[in-house]
Amino acid sequence: MQYIIVGIGGQGILFAGKVLGAVALEKKQRVTGSEVHGMAQRGGSVISHFKTGDFISPLVRAGEADVLLAFDQNEGIRNLHFLREGGAFVVNVHDRSAFDKIQVAGGFISVNTGSAPEANTISVKKKNADEAFDSAICIGCGACVAACKNASAMLFVSAKISQFALLPQGRVEAKERVRAMVEKMDELGFGNCSNTGACEAECPKQIKLDNIARLNREYYKAY
Ligand code: SF4
Repeated sequence: MQYIIVGIGGQGILFAGKVLGAVALEKKQRVTGSEVHGMAQRGGSVISHFKTGDFISPLVRAGEADVLLAFDQNEGIRNLHFLREGGAFVVNVHDRSAFDKIQVAGGFISVNTGSAPEANTISVKKKNADEAFDSAICIGCGACVAACKNASAMLFVSAKISQFALLPQGRVEAKERVRAMVEKMDELGFGNCSNTGACEAECPKQIKLDNIARLNREYYKAY
């Protein structure tokens, strides 16, 4: 059997490959495989090739996979060419479009921030730069909302707010951004945060609750 497992960083693609491998070895089957996860730490594509049986090469050729297991719809469609005719396509159809709507409401910078060399002349505190990058690794997986008893999206929104709020380029539109994103979050029916911390515990990217405190501060300052 030849498997292709795809998704984005943080979803457990490599772990899934390890589980399949352990099951196959338990059944005394030969196992071979290969993984590509160059941008996984930044929420990028991850692909795992996995074979059981008498194969020598670890890579699955286009059109030969018996099973395409996709943890993310887009990644599944992007890798459909691996699937053989009649092969099984198992895809996670979890709808995360609400997160996209929140992002579209304000999760971007639309002012001219100058060229890269100009940006490099603006001093940024190391602590702020580190925290901005730590926030930016949120992959929008939705685990925080699923774990929260209030179905709150505060951890996700706070990560998206923090990645801009901590940098000078993001300060210009900070007030409009936080107002628009919180308004959209409320409009979409997400609950509020009651500080139980389930989101932080479940987040695959270790996004911190401190971001929610920052989001609240930014929101109060915006009025
Ligand atoms: S904050 Fe964490 S759990 Fe929530 S969407 Fe981002 S990565 Fe996923």
